[in-house]
Amino acid sequence: METPKNPNPNPDQEIQFTKLFINNEFVDSISKKTFATINPANGKKIADIAEADKADVDLAVKAAQKAFERGSEWRNLDASARGRLLYRLADLIDRDSAILSNLETLDNGKPYEDACLDVLFSGEFLRYYAGLCDKIHGRTVPSDGNLFSYVRKEPIGVVGQIIPWNYPLMMVSWKWAPALAAGCTIVLKPAEQTPLSALYVANLAKEAGFPAGVVNVITGYGPTVGAAIASHPDIRKVAFTGSTEVGKLIMEAAAKSNLKKVSLELGGKSPLVIFDDVNIDEAVDIAHNAIFANHGQNCCAGSRTFVHEKIYDEFVEKAAEMAKNRKLGSPFEIGVQQGPQVDDQMFKKVLTYIDYGKEDGAKLEAGGKRWGNEGFYIEPTVFSNVTDDMRIAQDEIFGPVQSILKFKTIDEVIERANNTTYGLAAGVLTNDINTALTFANAVEAGSVWVNCYDAVTPQMPFGGYKQSGIGRELGAEGIESYLETKAVSIKLPSFKVPSKI
Ligand code: NAD
Repeated sequence: METPKNPNPNPDQEIQFTKLFINNEFVDSISKKTFATINPANGKKIADIAEADKADVDLAVKAAQKAFERGSEWRNLDASARGRLLYRLADLIDRDSAILSNLETLDNGKPYEDACLDVLFSGEFLRYYAGLCDKIHGRTVPSDGNLFSYVRKEPIGVVGQIIPWNYPLMMVSWKWAPALAAGCTIVLKPAEQTPLSALYVANLAKEAGFPAGVVNVITGYGPTVGAAIASHPDIRKVAFTGSTEVGKLIMEAAAKSNLKKVSLELGGKSPLVIFDDVNIDEAVDIAHNAIFANHGQNCCAGSRTFVHEKIYDEFVEKAAEMAKNRKLGSPFEIGVQQGPQVDDQMFKKVLTYIDYGKEDGAKLEAGGKRWGNEGFYIEPTVFSNVTDDMRIAQDEIFGPVQSILKFKTIDEVIERANNTTYGLAAGVLTNDINTALTFANAVEAGSVWVNCYDAVTPQMPFGGYKQSGIGRELGAEGIESYLETKAVSIKLPSFKVPSKI
């Protein structure tokens, strides 16, 4: 998809919505507390945002329950009418794409042109599920006895959704689209670093015509608001995207409270494997974008670049050159490829990992330090001579740090690619179909990309093997975790047919 033709970056974008969105109204938190959302490009406050607690989550859950009651406007809506609401919301996102892109760039620090693409994609995810609303089929089943049996799919009810800061608006769209298509009602918590676009789009949902209580947005911190959602007895399912560590807490809270269903989209340490039969310049470019896109703050970032020994030295030299030429600057400046990391905590975490890389004996080929003197910028960093045991090869850094490892054979690289607790995504670059398919079949990852990377589309399921998650989002599979399955059997009047068997 292309960037919009007339971008309109505006760092002075007005902030209209800063309060909790409950029952189609913006309200203060009960405690009246607020927290500051910070511009990562300069460390300055953008706005004060309502800080919710458990009591606010209770109110939102009540609103969502009421909207889900039998006979409510939402429950009575035709499936195709639900689809029309989703289409309308997507159109409103397109209409306000300049505003949303500004909010995203201000709050997250991503380049404005990238934000524009995120906004476009957010609409596309909603449209994919808009089309699915009236295609949620059950089936009839030839069951035993004199029974007419059918399977019916029903919305699971009130769902909680907890999302991260790396793709703030797109995560709202990924979470809302299947839940609304299924007919659920929602209490969503955006990340405390990036609440602005979620609040804005909540207002668009009201404008689109979603009945009160169908979507609710509660801003605040993870250990309070997030934990209250995960442990709420009246929430039937929780969907989470974020760190594996917090994913485990969510699952524990879900189990201890009411055994609510859980879907988790967690971290990764994804391998991108480059064989020696490729065009090196193209491979360098794909690998560069695989790790540096969104400043490395991408759950499926290609953070382990495995390069065949025959092309290793040339690849490293070109990869370092490309990283040095990456354009950093104000995320509102057109042409800038990399803005700041999202906050001070992530900034410090990434710099710590750069130190680990040096301590563990990797060779620093590019970057390696802070860029500029304000905001949370880090130079695009490239390490060569990385080995599997190093911390930069094992842990999710979530920053602009490329680790280049050397390999010899396909069997060796498959084993090394799989030697991680994660399994979110993987890529392979080769012109040999046998090599590509052997790798694609053997690698333990939820998404595999051949001769490309990050090809995430609304139509394809997305999620992780191992500790990268539970369940799938997107695609037809994405709606399943928002549905209950009901088996109905009806006894028919009995009549006897003489059996000849
Ligand atoms: P996080 O997992 O702490 O936060 C994600 C969301 O969970 C936020 O909305 C947060 O408020 C909420 N949360 C935090 N603690 C919670 C709790 N106890 N109960 C319920 N909700 C809670 O992620 P982070 O601290 O923002 O980033 C830390 C690391 O997570 C990153 O370095 C990165 O490795 C990983 N991460 C992964 C993704 C992803 O898309 N997979 C996204 C963001 C961060």
